[in-house]
Amino acid sequence: RELVGTAPAAEEKALEAALRPKTLQDFVGQSTVRGQLSLVLESSRLRGAAADHVLLSGPPGLGKTTLAMIIAGEMNAALRITSGPAIQHAGDLAAILSSLTDGEVLFIDEIHRMSRPAEEMLYMAMEDFRVDIIVGKGAGATSIPLELPPFTLVGATTRAGLLPGPLRDRFGFTGHLEYYSADELERVLRRSAGMLDMQVDDAGFAEIATRSRGTPRIANRLLRRVRDWALVHGVPLVDREAAGQALDTYEVDRRGLDRLDRAVLHALCTTFRGGPVGLSTLAILVGEETETVETVAEPYLVREGLLARTPRGRIATEGAWRHLGLQPPESADS
Ligand code: ADP
Repeated sequence: RELVGTAPAAEEKALEAALRPKTLQDFVGQSTVRGQLSLVLESSRLRGAAADHVLLSGPPGLGKTTLAMIIAGEMNAALRITSGPAIQHAGDLAAILSSLTDGEVLFIDEIHRMSRPAEEMLYMAMEDFRVDIIVGKGAGATSIPLELPPFTLVGATTRAGLLPGPLRDRFGFTGHLEYYSADELERVLRRSAGMLDMQVDDAGFAEIATRSRGTPRIANRLLRRVRDWALVHGVPLVDREAAGQALDTYEVDRRGLDRLDRAVLHALCTTFRGGPVGLSTLAILVGEETETVETVAEPYLVREGLLARTPRGRIATEGAWRHLGLQPPESADS
């Protein structure tokens, strides 16, 4: 997916990295999590100990990786980054854990996608700072206990509910990231525009913010697309109209819905007459993975009141029909 995809081009990735705030102070919004986290970090600094393990949950692009980097920075600690899908064997994890240095921060993105054996090894590492390394195979296999230096695990997941209970329970602090308000997104955009050397007026920022689905990563990406558009069209100052035209070109509508969001609503409304329909059926129909529909498209559509989850499946709300310019079924039937 072009707009919220997980593999942006190298240049985009470098830009995204450059735009990351480096301190808790510069991190916009999320005041609850920020306040709680700052207490956790301050206390461990005062005690001279590694910070407690931290779990961050929330939809993609809300700042989980950024916070992990900030935690390492504020603790003056080294940072190691890996992800659940990269840890398929317990041995992969053992290799990482056994090379950690004192106080290091280990960030595991998509921690809910780690394999079972790795997960079990992680329990012991988190609790006792120890792992058992299995050497050899079959009857001759022996387990060698290995002491680990104190470290801080920062896990990120799109939904805390996807994590097995025993893993969730081993985190000393869980922070749930919420979608950002338009105001907060404007602050993110202003900062980024300054760094990209772009001229945007207040209404221009507001227009981009309302189309950013409450997500800083999307806000920054839309800003870069607006920059491209303004550059090619020779527009020196981006106002509301310019921002709107640019984003229309990229099929991001006034409510921030992109192609996938609209495809989901369209499938629901037209193929299933509003539902209810199961998530996997919906995913097949729009040609996406179930997890993408569930963690990327759905939370925002639910928040916008366009889609509802019911025990029997997903349903489109009246607002969804209207947003697509379709007649809701009640009025069609009567
Ligand atoms: P996640 O790990 O949750 O998917 P990231 O931490 O990678 O999200 O954030 C994506 C981008 O959004 C980063 O490049 C960063 O610049 C920006 N960003 C995220 N949260 C904030 C924030 N609170 N303030 C400013 N920029 C942010």
